[in-house]
Amino acid sequence: MRKKLVAGNWKMNKNLQEGIELTSEIINMVRDEVIGNVEVVICPPFIALSSLINLTQGQKNIKIGAQNCHQELSGAYTGEVSAAMLKSIGCQWTILGHSERRQYFGETNQLLAQKVNTALSQSLKVMYCCGETLEQRNNNEHFNIIENQVSEGLFHLSAEVMKNMVIAYEPVWAIGTGVTASTEQAQEIHAFIRDLLVEKYGNETAQSLRILYGGSVKPDNAVELFSQKDIDGGLIGGAALQSRSFTEIVKAAQ
Ligand code: PEP
Repeated sequence: MRKKLVAGNWKMNKNLQEGIELTSEIINMVRDEVIGNVEVVICPPFIALSSLINLTQGQKNIKIGAQNCHQELSGAYTGEVSAAMLKSIGCQWTILGHSERRQYFGETNQLLAQKVNTALSQSLKVMYCCGETLEQRNNNEHFNIIENQVSEGLFHLSAEVMKNMVIAYEPVWAIGTGVTASTEQAQEIHAFIRDLLVEKYGNETAQSLRILYGGSVKPDNAVELFSQKDIDGGLIGGAALQSRSFTEIVKAAQ
């Protein structure tokens, strides 16, 4: 049984005070006995990581993660944050390869493979994002795009390491648009990704790894999405910015 995971990606939203307030509300609303078997990861901007890690100290099922990290451990990279720095503050997770990073910051699968290695070298857990644009889907290129993103970014890893990776399928056309992939569309791609994993790593590894869906997940569509065989939770953007909608989604994953 794969443990469901619900992660909130705050993107460039919430100042420190707002972040503390939101996280405190989430802690109160999402008690361990309420979320039971769901893992929750909150990914605020870098400036809030340390405070939120302290705030969630002792919370069994709520962890804090970064939204990105650099591919080098240190050096002359003005404005960047390294995986080693994240580790030094007790950060346990990072998102890598979000479509906004690919689109606005030119992150390629090759660069992401390096970032994955660096993050893993610091014992960070990684949520690796993939997803096609609307144009790619309309041109029927989505299976190829996903296969390239997953294989070029991750398939250099051993089966042992791969088991603990998390992949987030986030169709770009569904992110922040209010348009969600239908459950059939989402399940189809999740099953496709799992098949790629079976082919490369065998069934045991493929069945251990969690695949999240992201793209306009809301309390009213979460239950159906999360009940699909290969959907192991969600990466949530807009709905993670309010405690009520986020905790409703967490409860939907139970
Ligand atoms: C995201 O940015 O990862 C995301 C899924 O955003 P939203 O839920 O707002 O579509």
